[in-house]
Amino acid sequence: AVPADSIDYVFKVVVIGDSAVGKTQLLARFTKNEFCFDSKSTIGVEFQTRTVSIKGKVIKAQIWDTAGQERYRAVTSAYYRGALGAMLVYDITKRPTFDHVARWVEELRAHADSSIVIMLIGNKADLAADHRAVTTEDAVEFAEEQGLFFSEASALSGDNVDKAFFRVLEHIYAAV
Ligand code: GDP
Ligand code: MG
Repeated sequence: AVPADSIDYVFKVVVIGDSAVGKTQLLARFTKNEFCFDSKSTIGVEFQTRTVSIKGKVIKAQIWDTAGQERYRAVTSAYYRGALGAMLVYDITKRPTFDHVARWVEELRAHADSSIVIMLIGNKADLAADHRAVTTEDAVEFAEEQGLFFSEASALSGDNVDKAFFRVLEHIYAAV
């Protein structure tokens, strides 16, 4: 553990997106390097933390998980309060979860700080070969239109998970 007095910054990052896209597993992968195959729908844990070093500063990333409130507009504004970053997750094998991304962006624009750093994540990239339902090009186009960062990733294999979170944390840091 890192002594509390050595932490330079605490950055709140929220994870949002439709149910079952892999939000909780992305968070578990980033904070504990774990993946749990039979994860139940989220049970009340508000956030997990991981302390990282960015440009010589000690940064505690506080990553918030929705407690199964993914129904449209059920995530309250308290969840977004103070958030400096957002991981907006869809499932590359489930087209509707990508079609709903625009709604989640609206939610962020309505409730979060206007300077929030947003990373769109196409999760379950390990299933791309046989089950892809959203092309990378469609996602890149949407992300560019909306001014979001974008990456495909896999909580299962771990591919691009650290990279995506670090990119968000570095952009937050660059603005503090
Ligand atoms: P949440 O509702 O968005 O928090 O989704 P969960 O993290 O609970 O994951 C939903 C389901 O998708 C679970 O059965 C996970 O095991 C599975 N899952 C999550 N991430 C991945 C991934 O990267 N690849 C694959 N193949 N399955 C995943
Ligand atoms: Mg969950």
